[in-house]
Amino acid sequence: MKTVTLPCGEHVPAFGQGTWYMGDDRATRTEEIAALRLGLDLGLTLIDTAEMYGDGRAEQLVAEATAGRRDEVFLVSKVLPNHATRRGTVAACEKSLKRLKTDRIDLYLLHWRGNVPFAETMEALLALQSAGKIRHYGVSNLDFADMQELWAVAGGATVATNQLLYNLTRRGIEWDLLPWLRERRIPVMAYSPLEQARLVKNPQLAAFARRLGMTPAQAALAWLLANDDVIVIPKCGRRERLQENFGALHRSLTAPQLAELDRLFPPPTGPRPLEML
Ligand code: NAP
Repeated sequence: MKTVTLPCGEHVPAFGQGTWYMGDDRATRTEEIAALRLGLDLGLTLIDTAEMYGDGRAEQLVAEATAGRRDEVFLVSKVLPNHATRRGTVAACEKSLKRLKTDRIDLYLLHWRGNVPFAETMEALLALQSAGKIRHYGVSNLDFADMQELWAVAGGATVATNQLLYNLTRRGIEWDLLPWLRERRIPVMAYSPLEQARLVKNPQLAAFARRLGMTPAQAALAWLLANDDVIVIPKCGRRERLQENFGALHRSLTAPQLAELDRLFPPPTGPRPLEML
């Protein structure tokens, strides 16, 4: 499995599994669990979830999918901004641990910036880390200016990641945020790497992929996987599609192919406000 190195030196899979909307529909639940388990078998052992997803239902589904296999998994979950006070963060984490049926979360993220000062959330994350309830902490959806503010706060400079919307059609972070994170060796977790399946139907990407004998999903993921410091977390609730997406790990793109994708999906030419879904 290709890995990405966290700032502390730990290696995590570069290809993980997203879980937004998993557990929401009883009709698809069994297949979603089977897809997550197949992912574990294939080495996609990083699982991304959040207290927000289905009001905790996704975390419960993850507990079921990882039952008996906890030590194989690098578990990522997130605290909602309105819970991210000193006491609220700890309480939210305890609830997530219960739903996840585990004693620790490997990486715990602030889901996006709310009204609680960073200093308060960081204090809670540091306390959770000291107590062994989380191993690493990080942030999500923080823009360039937010990251600089966070950096000045106790614990802010030791975040393990910034999880961001990043795919061929959402390249704004390449202007300033991604280079800034790179300088500090903080990997990005690219969420919605398939643009919530819209990229799979993109005619230009489909034509590009067809010529190379891949599927559009594989091309979209291979483009992100061409980076050494980007973790992709596509959500896939069907085993057949998961196998297809997994194939992206074996389809590295050449420099001319990457240049062609730059022409089809141009990088930013100036600063853009951070996009999020
Ligand atoms: P995504 O991974 O870009 O796309 C997921 C959609 O694509 C699902 O509808 C899935 O359907 C479909 N899909 C997957 N593989 C496919 C394939 N080979 N062919 C056709 N369709 C395919 O979008 P996402 O779920 O928004 O993002 C991924 C994960 O990132 C989330 O699940 C979540 O864990 C995380 N996330 C974080 C934030 C944040 O604010 N931090 C925001 C959004 C997402 P099936 O499941 O039916 O296969």
